[in-house]
Amino acid sequence: MFYCPFCGKSLKTEDRFCDRCGKSVEAEAIHARAAEEQSFLDQTHRLLKYERTALRTVGILFLVFGGIFLLFCGLTIAGLGALVFDSDTLSKVAAFGTGLAALLLALCAMAMIPWGIVNLVAAAKLTPYLNGIYSDLRPAAERNQSVGWVVLELFFNPFALVLWVINLLRFKSEKATVKRIIQNQTTVE
Ligand SMILES: [Zn+2]
Repeated sequence: MFYCPFCGKSLKTEDRFCDRCGKSVEAEAIHARAAEEQSFLDQTHRLLKYERTALRTVGILFLVFGGIFLLFCGLTIAGLGALVFDSDTLSKVAAFGTGLAALLLALCAMAMIPWGIVNLVAAAKLTPYLNGIYSDLRPAAERNQSVGWVVLELFFNPFALVLWVINLLRFKSEKATVKRIIQNQTTVE
C-alpha cells in the first residue's frame, strides 16, 4: 500500500494510475513494491532467526541437563557400589533406593541428550534457508510445505513450530509479494 503523491489517496502497489485524481503513479508503485518486498524478506529472515534460536536454546539446555543427569547417575552408581559392600539391612534398603535413583537419572539423560541433539541438528539445517533468502526465497517457501519439519518441530520443539506457522501464514497471505520476489530473484540470476 502507498499514497498518491498528488491527492493523498491510499493505493494498492499494483495500481498504475490513481483512481481518484487519475494521475500516473507508476514510479511510486515501483518504490512501494520494492519496499514491500524488502520488508517481507527482512521479516522472514527475522522469524527464521527466532526459530533457529528456539531450536538452539532447547538443544543446548537439553544437552546440558542431560549431561548433568548423566553425571549424577554416575555418582549415584558409585554410591550404590559402596552400599552393596555393606551387609546390614538398612544399607540394603538404601542401596535399593540409590539404584532406583540411578535408573531414573539414566532414563532422563537418555531422553534428554538425543532430544538436544535433534534440536541442534534442526537448527543447523535451518541455517542455509536463513542465509539464502536474500538471493533465493524458493527453498524457504518450499520448506513451508515440508511435512517432515512440522512433525519434527511438533514433537521436539513446539516453540519453533509456532514461529514456523507464523511464517507460513505470512507466505500465504502475501502470495503476490512472494511471487514477485521469486520472479525478480530468478531473472537476476
Ligand atoms: Zn491521486
